[in-house]
Amino acid sequence: MNVYDSQRIVDVLAPHGYAPTDTVDDADLVVVNTCHIREKAAEKVYSELGRLRQLSGRRESEGKPRLSLAVAGCVAQAEGEAMARRAPFLDVVVGPQGYHRLPELLARRTRASGCVVETSFPTDSKFDHLPTAASPAGVSAFLTVQEGCDRFCTFCVVPYTRGAEDSRPVAAVIAEAKELVANGVRELTLLGQNVNAYHGVGPDGRSWSLARLLAALAEIDGVWRLRYTTSHPADMADDLIRAHRELPQLMPFLHLPVQAGSDRVLEAMNRRGSADDYRRLVDRLRRARPDLALSSDFIVGFPGESDADFEATLALVRDVGFAQAFSFKYSRRPGTPAAVLRGQVAEAVKAERLDRLQALLSDQQQSFNAAFVGQQVEVLVDRPGRKPGQVAGRTAHLQAVHFDGPATLVGGRAVVKVLAAERHSLRATRPAADRVALGAVA
Ligand code: SAH
Ligand code: SF4
Repeated sequence: MNVYDSQRIVDVLAPHGYAPTDTVDDADLVVVNTCHIREKAAEKVYSELGRLRQLSGRRESEGKPRLSLAVAGCVAQAEGEAMARRAPFLDVVVGPQGYHRLPELLARRTRASGCVVETSFPTDSKFDHLPTAASPAGVSAFLTVQEGCDRFCTFCVVPYTRGAEDSRPVAAVIAEAKELVANGVRELTLLGQNVNAYHGVGPDGRSWSLARLLAALAEIDGVWRLRYTTSHPADMADDLIRAHRELPQLMPFLHLPVQAGSDRVLEAMNRRGSADDYRRLVDRLRRARPDLALSSDFIVGFPGESDADFEATLALVRDVGFAQAFSFKYSRRPGTPAAVLRGQVAEAVKAERLDRLQALLSDQQQSFNAAFVGQQVEVLVDRPGRKPGQVAGRTAHLQAVHFDGPATLVGGRAVVKVLAAERHSLRATRPAADRVALGAVA
């Protein structure tokens, strides 16, 4: 979602004469868009700000124009005034619900005002004020349909930093999707902190489910692929499971975080569902779409997690089999219920558990990818490859693929044969017939 937000920040600033640059030394303004989900992320922000302050000082001593600095996102939201005190050289601190006001906040900053802080949760949605998506997005784009969360998992800061759950109206989502498609986008990934809780108001005045929204998006000419992330297992409604059977555009890959495999831990996390509920849900999804691959998030070392609890997580991973996954050591977030639970797990134990879990997940990922060797897969080609003469893209199962081919393939689909499963991607080749056909056309 931060990638999407950063893109929208670019859109907001564009009418005010700002254009993005890859070189921080050239910038007039640096916006650090931040994540607060784990402690490390917040500390990284302050060290980055330290570096930017030095850069700004260096430029001033060279007589160059002043560098403006803003911090956006959830660290800004959580720290607010405290951040303005710790880093008084900042111009603006703005939370995730206020970045559409960035130009105005920057203009309000004077020597006398000091850093301008905006972390309120406005009653009107920022989406009503954002310009229509203008920035060139490539062939694959994110589209936020839902924000915030009302689930209050006991470890998580999202309900506090992103605020209460809020779904965008169907018409607004469809309009943004059409605009993206007109700019060459062929794959849409619908975003939300709890995306399958989507319940936006439809043109008929009723509340639409995510499944219904997906079906409407699938009707747009030029939408080849649809995905959504991140979903909560307890919000996998029957119509959404059915959509995996019925909508060919809905890709056979689902990120469905489970967090842990022990019912005791799941309950302490307030996840509202047992490990067996998750197993049954996966069975239903695979019955709807037999080639569905799954990804998940895991937290190890949640307060009170015993060796047996952790073994239950490994058992769940073995039972389900994941194509990929993200796993984290539990990070204590001030203000969340779990932060004050007894039985905080020692750092060394967390590290050891994370190693074991990641070794298992990495084995599963490798065998998932290895099973594709020798097969033909369809790739949405989204960029030039790292080596000259190569292009790269993603399979339906979200695997990165690279193969030899002309840059003209970028933005389109290609069917390739997988030659090898490398550590982070598949190496493939275009069948000769395909090359001849394309060559004849050229
Ligand atoms: N809404 C999604 C997750 C959003 S946060 C869901 O319900 O699954 C992304 C991931 O960060 C979470 O799935 C969780 O695995 C991890 N995470 C969140 N808070 C954390 C914390 N305090 N410590 C460690 N990992 C955390
Ligand atoms: Fe956080 Fe996801 Fe739980 Fe919401 S559902 S509180 S975003 S982990």
